[in-house]
Amino acid sequence: MGRIIAITNQKGGVGKTTTSVNLSACLAYLGKKVLLIDIDPQGNATSGVGINKGEIQSCIYDVLIDDEDVKNVTQQSKVENLHVVPATISLAGAEIELVSTISREVRLKHALQNIKDQYDFIIIDCPPSLGLLTINALTASDAVIIPVQCEYYALEGLSQLLSTVRLVQKHLNQHLYIDGVLLTMLDARTNLGLQVIEEVKKYFQDKVYKTIIPRNVRLSEAPSFGEPIIIYDAKSRGAEVYLELAREVIKNG
Ligand code: ADP
Ligand code: MG
Repeated sequence: MGRIIAITNQKGGVGKTTTSVNLSACLAYLGKKVLLIDIDPQGNATSGVGINKGEIQSCIYDVLIDDEDVKNVTQQSKVENLHVVPATISLAGAEIELVSTISREVRLKHALQNIKDQYDFIIIDCPPSLGLLTINALTASDAVIIPVQCEYYALEGLSQLLSTVRLVQKHLNQHLYIDGVLLTMLDARTNLGLQVIEEVKKYFQDKVYKTIIPRNVRLSEAPSFGEPIIIYDAKSRGAEVYLELAREVIKNG
């Protein structure tokens, strides 16, 4: 049975998309069958795995709003074993259109029911908000990964995120759990990063992944080539750490 994991944090720029793309690609590299679902209208995960956004005929919008079969919008990515359901800017309207749609919180869950068994992992890249797109992701998922940037105010907004997770658990998806909190963009040369690690570990305790993602230039370059780090530079530190994370996530299962 496939495990569905939402990568979520309503703060922008914390490493959600970088983690979605590279965790997905590393799981695939380790032989798992993976589906990456992009539900951020910016579509950065889509282009990050080599899909040309200009050539997309239909996307996750059509699944959520027009009941399109998710199989019809699924594409092969640049990585073997990794499929992707793309997002385009049309998804920007979905947040509002969903409000008046029947069973608006469970549309993604229903869409994934028939394909869940065909994958070992389904990874969902969430937008930077706690609106209906994110609620759909949390409702469809077994688990969440919360990336937290090793910066000032790292914990800010997390109580709001956790209360949203609890609301979804209570009303929509009783079995949802936090797989882990992922510390990202650590600059090991500063004390600040180390302080943030302490603070986050105090708050989340054993929920924090052992793997910590450092700042790595190769990770920030890879998206402009439409390549996950494991293809762009398999020998980089970025590739090493995301492989390590993939192994940790597999072990948690
Ligand atoms: P989010 O999806 O949460 O908005 P992104 O994954 O898009 O965040 O990351 C924000 C920016 O930081 C992007 O430009 C990305 O390339 C860069 N970035 C993310 N993680 C790293 C990292 N570990 N090292 C260097 N740059 C990173
Ligand atoms: Mg993003």
